[in-house]
Amino acid sequence: MRIFAAALNHETNTFSPMVTGWRGFEQQIAWRPGEHPPQANLNTAAFWVARRRAAVDGYTFVPGSCFWAAPGGTVTRAAFERMRDEILAQLQAALPVQGVVLALHGAMVADGYDDCEGNLLAHVRRIAGPAAVIGVGLDPHCHLTRARCEVADLLVLFKEYPHTDFVERGEELLDLVLAQIRGAIRPLKSVWDCRMIASFPTSHAPVRDLVDRIKALEGHDGVLSISIAHGFPSGDVADSGTRVLVITDDAKPRGDALARQIGEQVVALRGHTEPALLEPADALDEALRIAEGASRPVIIADTSDNPGGGAPADNTDFVRLLMQRGVHGAAVGPLFDPVAVQLAFDAGAGAHLRLRLGGKLCWASGQPVDAEVQVLACVRQAQQTFAGTPVPLGDAVGLRTAEGVGVVLSSSAHQAMGPDLFANLGIDPTRERVLVVKSKQHFQAAFEPISQAVLYATGNGLLATDCRRYPWRKVRRPIWPLDEAAVPGPVM
Ligand SMILES: [Zn+2]
Repeated sequence: MRIFAAALNHETNTFSPMVTGWRGFEQQIAWRPGEHPPQANLNTAAFWVARRRAAVDGYTFVPGSCFWAAPGGTVTRAAFERMRDEILAQLQAALPVQGVVLALHGAMVADGYDDCEGNLLAHVRRIAGPAAVIGVGLDPHCHLTRARCEVADLLVLFKEYPHTDFVERGEELLDLVLAQIRGAIRPLKSVWDCRMIASFPTSHAPVRDLVDRIKALEGHDGVLSISIAHGFPSGDVADSGTRVLVITDDAKPRGDALARQIGEQVVALRGHTEPALLEPADALDEALRIAEGASRPVIIADTSDNPGGGAPADNTDFVRLLMQRGVHGAAVGPLFDPVAVQLAFDAGAGAHLRLRLGGKLCWASGQPVDAEVQVLACVRQAQQTFAGTPVPLGDAVGLRTAEGVGVVLSSSAHQAMGPDLFANLGIDPTRERVLVVKSKQHFQAAFEPISQAVLYATGNGLLATDCRRYPWRKVRRPIWPLDEAAVPGPVM
């Protein structure tokens, strides 16, 4: 048995003015066959599992390339076609194969391609042939288009947000792919469209309960897998929005009923899936109130400047607010500013200098902040930790302003995922009163356990914390909350 695997990942914020070109992939993840590191990676989990299990499960693993760039604006046509064609040529050379396993984010939009993954999958099917089993691992922030569901035999999405379950879901996908190749199952898909755009953090009720319920349904009555495609609320394509996917073992009517039932539960949560968002000044007031006498830091998520959703992460509003208020024992990170990082490296750890921070990339970046800073640490290819795996920060520096505000600056835009992003840059996160993180939800898994409280702030960053503020053009209407008259229904 021969199984080919590859990975192609981008979460495209179609409202972002920043183009994502080949350089973004080349500088982040462009691992050719044999180059994937030994550790698992959030963006390549299905590939990594397929490689690891080859010896145990007795098949020949044929690696293709793995690509990922940080979330950002629309991918260039040249970059997408280059990566797609590289993977397809590798697949062609790998034939014959009985299985193809792909780790895809699922929300990539390129110039001329609104459904990059659907396009890739159609070519994969053409090359691999009708008998090959195609299994796809997806991020729940994907656009679950009908085209990709029709072509792929199996699609398994991460269930958790933060996506701490990426290896588990990769294992499940591979179990199902092997079972289908061996003729042990006949997977049939049922997809229900909730006709809504929303965000679904799974760490707390009510979404937590929903995820626990669907997990309990798997493995019984012919239900092989259940996924909730949250959709990507900053991606404007015809099929944007939340969908439920149920895969049964030759039990389509049962799958249809279940997809509808779960879909109706999702619809019932409209307006209640996310925590309340505070204006930045109110969030800081609340954080300082809670921090009074507390032994652990209060976390504020700067959600509108979350680079994990394609924002530039160089909005300075919180840094300015903390400096103006003279808040000692607060830190912000990671703020994206490669020029300031270079200047701090030139000055070196321990140096004092006047540095201009952030506020450069686009209209949503705000004004730069001029600060007297001390350089605490300079680290080439710095890292943070997510679900036990290393996540790159690029070259990074830790600073402390004269007002007492700590700042982690990075040379590439990455969202906050692990508290060691501060610790690795000379700022002990457990000793700060307030930590402001550039993230919407991925920070929660590792930051909440060390915190007194977690607050979520809106702001002037690029991401609309109310999606009605975006100039939607392509999404099929009506859809909630853009339209009240949105009517859920089956896709397939
Ligand atoms: Zn995601």
